[in-house]
Amino acid sequence: MLPIRLAEKEGPLNILCIGAHSDDIEIGCGGAMLTLRKRYPDARIVWVVLSGSKERQEEAERAAAAMLGDADYEFQTGHFRDGFFPYQGLEVKEFFESLKKTTEPDVIFTHHRNDLHQDHRLVSELTRNTWRAHFVLEYEIPKYDADLGHPNTFVPLEPDVLARKIAVLMEYFGTQRSKQWFDEETFRGLMRLRGIECASPTGYAEAFHAPKLLLLG
Ligand SMILES: [Zn+2]
Repeated sequence: MLPIRLAEKEGPLNILCIGAHSDDIEIGCGGAMLTLRKRYPDARIVWVVLSGSKERQEEAERAAAAMLGDADYEFQTGHFRDGFFPYQGLEVKEFFESLKKTTEPDVIFTHHRNDLHQDHRLVSELTRNTWRAHFVLEYEIPKYDADLGHPNTFVPLEPDVLARKIAVLMEYFGTQRSKQWFDEETFRGLMRLRGIECASPTGYAEAFHAPKLLLLG
């Protein structure tokens, strides 16, 4: 397998991360974000969490701060009702339209188009509607619905990145700890499987669906 890197560009890399719920970005692309931060220390990051009670939004904000440290980043919330996104479609769409006016991302992390959670799916669809000619990586969230697919893009994770991602998930999302699936074994297990699928030198990776890539000769 021939690895590829993001093309170099003049000026800082602009990264947009979108998650329906407070922990989605960390679960789906926390390792990739930590890895990109190392390689692009001057990256500008917009971190958007669309739903959540006050408590969940606060934990999302604290987790983002722990994940991003002194990076140049902006945290935004949409205040939409968890589980009801498709029924608030007009407002969610308007949120995306306003986000479009204030961001020009080089890389976008969002939910996967075949995710069976209704909020995740709408976020994925609106991401595609809003940024049509952009580089999008769709991340995966393990869940009861058993909707994991066959991702085609992998980011191998260094041991310190893996440890940091898991530490942030376990430390900052107290509201999720009662859920039977929210534990270190789930996260580590999925990343181990994806590590096998890309022959990661460290054994671990995050995986994404890249709907469209532009390969320059
Ligand atoms: Zn979610």
